[in-house]
Amino acid sequence: MTDFEILIPDSADEFDTFVEHFDQQIKNSNLKRAAKIAQTEWDLSGGILSKGNVNIHRSANNIIVHVKSKIDVLVIIIVIVLFLLMGLITVLLGIIILAIALNNESKIGTEVRRATESAKTKILMKASYRIETGLDMGKKKITECPSCGKPLSKEGGFCPYCGSKLEKCTVCNLIIGKDDEITKCPYCSGIAHRDHILEYIKIKGECPRCGKELKKYELV
Ligand SMILES: [Zn+2]
Ligand SMILES: [Zn+2]
Ligand SMILES: [Zn+2]
Repeated sequence: MTDFEILIPDSADEFDTFVEHFDQQIKNSNLKRAAKIAQTEWDLSGGILSKGNVNIHRSANNIIVHVKSKIDVLVIIIVIVLFLLMGLITVLLGIIILAIALNNESKIGTEVRRATESAKTKILMKASYRIETGLDMGKKKITECPSCGKPLSKEGGFCPYCGSKLEKCTVCNLIIGKDDEITKCPYCSGIAHRDHILEYIKIKGECPRCGKELKKYELV
C-alpha cells in the first residue's frame, strides 16, 4: 500500500483541473501500477473519488491519495509458487536419489552375480582339473587306439592304423577308451564320459560343447 498527500483544490469547480493535474502527477511518478488507472474514468461516489486501484479521501485541507497495491497478493502468489517449486524440487530430488539407489542396487546385483559366476567357474576349474588329471575320476590318458589297440602318437582325429574315429570327451578332452561309460548331448551329439558330463552339468547346467541348457535326464 502506498499513501501520499496532495493539496486539495479549494472548490469543487476546480476538481476537474485537479483530476487532470493528478493524472499527470501519477504519470510522472514512479507508481507504474497507479499509472495504469489512467485508462479508466474517475468515479466519485460516497465522498470517495476512485479510479482503478486509487482512492482519494478528503481530510481537512488535504486529500489522501490511497493506492491499493496488488503486491500483497502477488507476494502471496509468489510464495505459494515458490513453495510448490520447492515441493517439486524435493520430489524430483527424491526421484533422482531413488533412481541412483536403484541403479546402485542393480550394480550390486550384477556384482553378486559376477561373484557367483566366478565362484562357479572356480569350482568348475577345480572339477575340470580333477577330471583332466584323473585324480579321483578314474580316467587315464588313452595311449592306445580303442579299436585296434595300436599305440597312438596323436590326441584326436582318426587312428592312423585302423582309421577309426578317436572320440574325445567334451569335458576332459581326452580320447574315450573302449570300456568308458559315455553319454551324448541330445542337441549337438557331443560325446562325453558319463561321470564327467554329470559333474559338469551339475555345476554349469549346460553342454560344454554347444552351450545348450542340459538336464541330467536329457542325456542319451
Ligand atoms: Zn586304431
Ligand atoms: Zn571325460
Ligand atoms: Zn551339446
